[in-house]
Amino acid sequence: MSKANELKKIEKKVLTLKKSPLYAYRTENKYLPVIGEGSSDAQIMFIGEAPGKNEALTGKPFCGAAGKILDELLASIDLKREEIYITNIIKDRPPRNRDPLPEEIKAYASFLDQQIEIIQPKIIATLGRYAMGYIIKKFGLDSSLELIGKAHGKAYTTKASYGPVTVVALYHPCVALYNRKQITTLKKDFKILQKYGK
Ligand code: URA
Repeated sequence: MSKANELKKIEKKVLTLKKSPLYAYRTENKYLPVIGEGSSDAQIMFIGEAPGKNEALTGKPFCGAAGKILDELLASIDLKREEIYITNIIKDRPPRNRDPLPEEIKAYASFLDQQIEIIQPKIIATLGRYAMGYIIKKFGLDSSLELIGKAHGKAYTTKASYGPVTVVALYHPCVALYNRKQITTLKKDFKILQKYGK
């Protein structure tokens, strides 16, 4: 089965995930789950936190205000969305964009795990502390676990089931929405992705 078809299977499973704590909220609001978008052969996979309202209305990751910042950051290192894969840990919008709860991370984690196994990225770029925390634990990098204030812009190379993988911890693009000056830090941190290739 092609990678694209394998990814489609995940979408079907999330659509009918009635046991998710966010399923009722999704259907009541006529929202869509946001599975992920981009190349199934991507070398770089970006992992955000959870869909916001625009994302839940369209089913596309990072298509609102945070997405505009992400596009600016990708352009600064000459990366196109078609070259990468973008997803989130949580596939449904949490009410009022609140932080994801541990049981929500648990409910969706296996889908992210499957996406990683299918795409087999060489680089996993985490956006924000929730994605960083999950990925660092998943790959047994707990001993390197630092707070995002220290870890941002750093790369941790480890082993995935399919070969080596480099985890790059990045701030969530929305930090630049709250404080525009942070774009400078974000751009500097994104440069590390160039070092590890496309
Ligand atoms: N923030 C995220 O973490 N993910 C999105 O898809 C949009 C905003």
